[in-house]
Amino acid sequence: MLFPQRFLDDLRLQANILQVVQEYVPLKRAGQTYKGLCPFHAEKTPSFHVNQEKGFFHCFGCNVGGDVFKFLELHEKLGFQDAVRMLAQKFGVALPEEGERGDGHADSGLREALLKIHEVAAAYFREDLDHPSGARARRQLHDRGVTPTTIERLGIGYAPPSRDGLRDRLLKQGFAPALLVQSGLVVLRENREEVDRFRNRLMVPICRDSGSVIGFGGRSMETGQVPKYLNSPETPIYAKGRTLYGLNLTKAAIQKAGFAVLVEGYFDFAQVYQSEAAPAVASCGTA
Ligand SMILES: [Zn+2]
Repeated sequence: MLFPQRFLDDLRLQANILQVVQEYVPLKRAGQTYKGLCPFHAEKTPSFHVNQEKGFFHCFGCNVGGDVFKFLELHEKLGFQDAVRMLAQKFGVALPEEGERGDGHADSGLREALLKIHEVAAAYFREDLDHPSGARARRQLHDRGVTPTTIERLGIGYAPPSRDGLRDRLLKQGFAPALLVQSGLVVLRENREEVDRFRNRLMVPICRDSGSVIGFGGRSMETGQVPKYLNSPETPIYAKGRTLYGLNLTKAAIQKAGFAVLVEGYFDFAQVYQSEAAPAVASCGTA
């Protein structure tokens, strides 16, 4: 059985290597790292170091080293899979369900295509924000105090009122109609008509830690427009319960600070992000 890379990345981020190692090895702070007597070779002077920020350990005496998974594998004499399970249990991270472990299997081609579609869509929404017809959207962002730099860093865009502008763009790029529906960006109506899911909305891309776009949150432009927030549905690349918005932008700062501020919405996140007050993540798009 294989765990998806994204799950492993999330777990590695949440599992504090310092906390894990300290249960076995007394450590003392030494500048940027922590050090102690190596549990893997006999020594009297500490040459075993743990770097919490970078998430790895290393012994200068016997040259053993690695991440938090590696430490448990070596120290508990576990296989990789069991080390992963042990850490997930310890830090309260749910293991992926059976059937969600498809990374690297038959559906990896599908996932790749869906990621590519989202990349094209994100570019399309950004273009439309810069277009003359995006003037109102730009003004709304300005009125919300979102700076041009933040707009660019968050990749915020605008979905025009057009019925199938994005669908057209994607079809022209050679994506199959069924794939567009599967991406969640195109909706198949009861009359078999296919239209863009997001129309006349401010568009916020939801990304993996790596930065790949996996979904969108769309905010209404008009007062009576419902719903106020429309999010991408779950797809083979987007599992809502496991995506915190903004982590791709603040992960490094969170690791450095050792904490994060949890905010509710995309635009709350934008405010905290551009104020640089504290590293934040948002829970939006997760329910
Ligand atoms: Zn050693």
